[in-house]
Amino acid sequence: MSTPKNLTTAFGIPVGDDQNSMTAGSRGPVLMQDVHLLEKLAHFDRERIPERVVHAKGAGAGGYFEVTSDVTEFTKAKFLSAVGKRTEVFVRFSTVGGEKGSSDAVRDPRGFAVKFYTEDGNYDMVGNNTPVFFIRDPLKFPDFIHTQKRHPATNCPDPDMFWDFLSLTPESIHQVTILFSDRGIPATYRHMNGYSSHTFKWYNENGKYFWVQYHFKTDQGIKNLTREEAARLSGNDSDHATRDLYNAIERGENPSWTLKVQIMTPEQAKDYRFDIFDITKVWPHNDFPLIEVGRMVLDRNPNNYFSEVEQAAFCPGNLVPGIAASPDKMLQARMFSYHDTHIHRLGSNYHLLPVNSPKAASDNSYQRDGSMRVDDNGGSGPNYWPNSFGGPAPDPSCLEPPFEVTGQAARHDYSHPNDDFLQAGNLYHDVMTDQDREHLIGNIVSHLSGAQKCIQLRQAALFYKADPDYGRRVAEGLDLDFQKVQNLAKMSQQERIKATAK
Ligand code: NDP
Repeated sequence: MSTPKNLTTAFGIPVGDDQNSMTAGSRGPVLMQDVHLLEKLAHFDRERIPERVVHAKGAGAGGYFEVTSDVTEFTKAKFLSAVGKRTEVFVRFSTVGGEKGSSDAVRDPRGFAVKFYTEDGNYDMVGNNTPVFFIRDPLKFPDFIHTQKRHPATNCPDPDMFWDFLSLTPESIHQVTILFSDRGIPATYRHMNGYSSHTFKWYNENGKYFWVQYHFKTDQGIKNLTREEAARLSGNDSDHATRDLYNAIERGENPSWTLKVQIMTPEQAKDYRFDIFDITKVWPHNDFPLIEVGRMVLDRNPNNYFSEVEQAAFCPGNLVPGIAASPDKMLQARMFSYHDTHIHRLGSNYHLLPVNSPKAASDNSYQRDGSMRVDDNGGSGPNYWPNSFGGPAPDPSCLEPPFEVTGQAARHDYSHPNDDFLQAGNLYHDVMTDQDREHLIGNIVSHLSGAQKCIQLRQAALFYKADPDYGRRVAEGLDLDFQKVQNLAKMSQQERIKATAK
């Protein structure tokens, strides 16, 4: 056994006694001059940082990504430049709506965030375990999240809020169908897929670009929990998925995912039947088959949870040359919001924290000062550009090729002709088994039954529009007047809202 080090204060001053505060007399009041006590209490008082407003509860691990197929015709991203090439990664999985201490076994999307420490800086793929999302305009995001959290008066989750918003937001039907399917409660973080959900742009050495969607397919196989199993687990072990990830890696059962992509040329995108920047839609595999890219393996547990997992900060705007944003409105807003959140949560120099700082590249920016600047702050080098003193210079070869944008600036309503119910219907009747459908209906009925009748009717009409059988079975489960549901389904959304007003 190694000899333990001597205890010190945070400033390295030796501590002689860590059990007895300094007092005036054996019972007397505590002295102000006990700086060890004061420092210890003051630091303890500040141990908590703001938790993420979404994705607060999470688990993470380190590992690597290895390229298994040549994709250089599509992207010049250096970390994807050669088969066999390995790049260090750090991954954080999470639930979305619950607080930091909430259960892992909840019906909720799961965050799937990957930080690739590439030689061109850190590339963050900040996805979810579902290929779509509830809304496609970021202006709706804060409202949506409010409805998934706690009621302003009762401070409890509220089925009225939850379903009121969704029933007033028909584009959510696809994601709602996935959320209430068995995949809505993954058995563990190891047994779920990850998706970019957004469309991104890849461009190659010649400046030719492609649209791309990422699919990280679990090599452990998909496993889910029924709502009864999840309820039991939540009571017995609210951290089961966090523990599972840690223990699997400790046992040497390193989880892995195969990264595949769908690729679409700009020509194919032109008149495609779905809006490829609408995050409520997928690209059907028959139209755009999956192409293998590589394998991600998690083989390192964090040494310290707070230092690595809690302080890990991902941002969809961290894109490396060869990869660029698409016009997806949700993506555009996330590129602002994640960075903004981390500044609030961790401070303006959060990029200097070891888990967030580049490992295979260096930080050569002109950003200076700010609270908790823990490196040499650029030393004596110039703090402005342009300069004549050898400071870092921009490299035009890493610029994204120029692209066209057109159109009138306005608050445009969504106008793509394809409707919001088709893909939810496809999932229901083409992909799900009889058992999947039975579980889906049971999961919806048990949750939606907590909402008011007018909301139940409005939501059942949306299920009906996805597939009449889907709507009928939800209506039956909730004991709703099916004729009423059918009539509501025939109405426009505005008429339906009026007809189901309280
Ligand atoms: P495919 O039959 O080619 O693909 C169906 C996909 O659905 C598979 O990727 C499968 O994943 C996944 N899946 C199976 N069960 C569920 C579930 N309960 N919830 C969510 N996904 C599930 O069909 P299409 O590509 O034509 O898509 C049909 C529908 O499948 C879509 O409308 C969408 O709802 C869903 N889907 C499509 C994806 C895509 O990118 N095209 C991705 C995920 C879902 P696995 O291979 O892991 O079993």
